[in-house]
Amino acid sequence: MTWAATILTLYPEMFPGPLGHSLAGRALADGTWSLDTVQIRDFATDKHRSVDDTPAGGGAGMVLKVDVLAAAVDHVLARDPDVPMLAMSPRGRPLDQALVRELAAGPGVSVLCGRFEGFDERLFEARPVIPVSIGDYVLSGGETGAFVLLDACIRLLPGVMGAPSSGDEESFESGLLEYPHYTRPQVWEGRTIPEVLRSGDHAKIAAWRKQRAEDDTRLRRPDLIERHGGARRPPPSGAQRREQED
Ligand code: SAH
Repeated sequence: MTWAATILTLYPEMFPGPLGHSLAGRALADGTWSLDTVQIRDFATDKHRSVDDTPAGGGAGMVLKVDVLAAAVDHVLARDPDVPMLAMSPRGRPLDQALVRELAAGPGVSVLCGRFEGFDERLFEARPVIPVSIGDYVLSGGETGAFVLLDACIRLLPGVMGAPSSGDEESFESGLLEYPHYTRPQVWEGRTIPEVLRSGDHAKIAAWRKQRAEDDTRLRRPDLIERHGGARRPPPSGAQRREQED
């Protein structure tokens, strides 16, 4: 079955953009996923086809009009009632790998892209639109956020990644960052690949990788450790120890 992506945007010409290349591009060409864009401006009703207006209460910028947004959303929901409708917003639920997995396992996703100051809030009260944020920073528009969200989902669709198991050990899949990778040359600028990785001892390699995943997560992302079951071990002493020891 084709995973259906629909982007509601003022800039449909931005798509597929980066998703037309590499893994996602090949998967689009072979029908693993489909892409449809909906021009929000097509749902404007006044003679200037305006999609935005000044913010109630004053302040800088413009706000996307709820009547126009709702008409665009209704158009897509009438066609794809089972596809979740997300809206890109820094005020939304943070996107993480669990949400990506959930979306990739479903029929597809529709993504409403904001511009200017964002959406009239009444949209979220009146329609089943879920605001989603890609991180704690502000973009100029939702389209780049939609690329991020779609890219993360598409690589999980069956047949898109080379080896079927290559997603399993990835960062965040176990609640930890992934262990670090190395490849030839064995010595580069005097730095060697950790000896254990050349030992051929699969149990030892697995143990080393598990340890590194835990240590690196503890050092770089203590928030992940906290979220996924608390401190299992005391933190390793000396944040820079890796460079010398490996
Ligand atoms: N005034 C808003 C920001 C608007 S930025 C605020 O401070 O919350 C314009 C548009 O860019 C938003 O409507 C949204 O669609 C998109 N955008 C900006 N930052 C984003 C983020 N972190 N995640 C997802 N979308 C974002």
